[in-house]
Amino acid sequence: MENFTIHSTDRTSIIDITQQIQSIVKESGIKDGVCYVFIPHTTAGVTINENADPDVKSDMLMEINKVIPFSDSYRHIEGNSAAHIKASLFGNSETIFLKEGRLQLGTWQGIFFCEFDGPRTRKVWVNLIKSE
Ligand code: ZN
Repeated sequence: MENFTIHSTDRTSIIDITQQIQSIVKESGIKDGVCYVFIPHTTAGVTINENADPDVKSDMLMEINKVIPFSDSYRHIEGNSAAHIKASLFGNSETIFLKEGRLQLGTWQGIFFCEFDGPRTRKVWVNLIKSE
């Protein structure tokens, strides 16, 4: 398993990690198989969405922060319930096929780390499985 570190700089942010993951695929030498991306945190997640227009990321954050407000009558004493809920809604793993050494993403797709309780230093775990 490979991993890399993300330094988020805002309370909530969506950070494109496609190139870091493609680099891990390239260095592995694996041509065909499956790439698993896993976020080992309870207040961060991962999603695949549009990487062409950066406004998509800001719109997603604007709406998720409205749907799950930072302050409400939450009981969790750490005070970051909104981040836990957002992390579960987005999910903490993605699966991407590999073909000829490339991540098989749609034309407009990228892989995004989703910070919901930043700024923090975070880990991304990547596991590559070669097809027989
Ligand atoms: Zn908490």
